Amino acid sequence: MMKCSHCGMEIPFAGKVCPFCGVDKTNDQKLHLVVMGTAFSTFIFTFALVGFLTQNPCLAVLAALAAVFFGTILALAVCTIAKWP
Ligand SMILES: [Zn+2]
Repeated sequence: MMKCSHCGMEIPFAGKVCPFCGVDKTNDQKLHLVVMGTAFSTFIFTFALVGFLTQNPCLAVLAALAAVFFGTILALAVCTIAKWP
């Protein structure tokens, strides 16, 4: 879920326009992806940093898995917006 920048209502991520006010929400979706990407990157970076600081290879492996997982989700989200197959 995200917020429509035009009417402020909670709207689903999928679709092209806000179901409440009908405004084009492509820019909101891009912003949402950038915010999510930044949040996930920070999360993964922190994970990797903790793994490095504690000399714990398990955390480093988990960080790599998390990066692949969130990267796939972001790619799928971008494909959904761009209407790629
Ligand atoms: Zn709206």
